[in-house]
Amino acid sequence: MSSRLGPIEIDCDAPPYAIVRACHMVGVRSAEDVRWWRLSEYLRQQIRWRDILRHPLKALKRVARGPGRCGCGEKLPSLEKCTFTRISGNKATYLIGQCPNCRTVYWDEPTAATVRPTRMSD
Ligand SMILES: [Zn+2]
Repeated sequence: MSSRLGPIEIDCDAPPYAIVRACHMVGVRSAEDVRWWRLSEYLRQQIRWRDILRHPLKALKRVARGPGRCGCGEKLPSLEKCTFTRISGNKATYLIGQCPNCRTVYWDEPTAATVRPTRMSD
């Protein structure tokens, strides 16, 4: 029976698991059970020639939804800056947003252009 099973393709584009687990504290629902997309990668994959050649209908649907649309067709959520503090005291900042329709979570690491410097009080 096991010889009938082929390799399983795992498509994971999430931040470190500790961050995923902690995301309920910033309002993300079912964080461990939903799809995660790094926003920059998601936007990059919307137009890939390889996909157009391999799966033209799928690529056409993606383009037809227009830029800035979630895989379900909903407008992409705005990402909010969330800072997580580890037990060690180290902080990690991510931009996180969740689609209200399909609950896909979009995230990215902040860049100098998207995050203003903040004053640390500790
Ligand atoms: Zn969605």
